[in-house]
Parts: sequence; structure tokens; C-alpha cells
Amino acid sequence: MTATTDLHDGGCTCRFIRYRITSGPLFVHCCHCRWCQRESGASFALNAMIEADRVDLLEGELEIIDTPSNSGRGQRIARCPRCKVAVWSNYAGAGDTVRFVRVGTLDDPDRFPPDIHIFTESKQPWLVLPPGIPAVPVYYKSLEHWPKDSLERRAALMSRSSQKQ
Ligand SMILES: [Zn+2]
Ligand SMILES: [Zn+2]
Repeated sequence: MTATTDLHDGGCTCRFIRYRITSGPLFVHCCHCRWCQRESGASFALNAMIEADRVDLLEGELEIIDTPSNSGRGQRIARCPRCKVAVWSNYAGAGDTVRFVRVGTLDDPDRFPPDIHIFTESKQPWLVLPPGIPAVPVYYKSLEHWPKDSLERRAALMSRSSQKQ
């Protein structure tokens, strides 16, 4: 799933923005926090975490909107400047090196179902979670849930970004 030939395209609704992710994600969060519910206008957000250098902007130019976040440290949401659809976020906690790509903006969003459900303490009660997928009331430790391959990719990313500073 993480081969470098594993390309997935996506974009906004008006098609001004087109992007490509060049591998599978590190991990996919289905977040049931109230913030994600409000920002999506629905019941949860589905975010594929991936190295920023594996996200290529193919067409268009993004508008970056500083937005409050649950942590208080803010998030930068990348939106189409025309139709304003959000295609990914960067959170202060994970820094600029990891993007949270909104799975619903991929042409084939079915490829990346959740690896974990988070903030289920505020999950809308009608939503029944599938058995067999980890679910936590708030957050979790990546060491306990991420596959080995993703932990290695993250370690490589952290050593690259500390060399740049
Ligand atoms: Zn657009
Ligand atoms: Zn959330």
C-alpha cells in the first residue's frame, strides 16, 4: 500500500485545485470531535496523515486559512480560493511536515477507510462504529496503533526536518 508508484489524485469541487498523493497515508483518523463536526457540517472528519513532500499540487493555487483548533494551537487549512473547499490541514502539533488530507476530496475516497476512530466521547449517538477498528474516547499513542512501516516513515521525516533547522 505504500509503494512509491501508489498515486492517488484529488481536488476541490470546482476543479481549480488538483493534487496527487504519491503513496498511501501514514495513518487515517476518523475524528468525532465537535470541532471536526462543525468544520465538516456533518458527523466526523476523515483525515489521511501523510508526509507533506508526498503531496503534490498539480493545478491551481491554495488559499491558506488560519483557523482555531481544539488544541488551542491552531490549524492552517488549505482551501481552493474559488469554491473554498478544504483539501488538507496542517496542525501546529504535527508541524508543516505532515498534512492531514481530507479523504473525501480524493477521487477514490473508498481506498482509505479509518485506521482508528478518535474523540468518540463526542461521537453522534446514531453513528454505529464498525467492529474490529480501534476506537478511543480522546486520543492515543501512535506507538500503540501505527503499523511499523508508518512509524519508520515518521522517524525518517523527523530526522529530515531536524536536519533542516
Ligand atoms: Zn475549487
Ligand atoms: Zn476532530
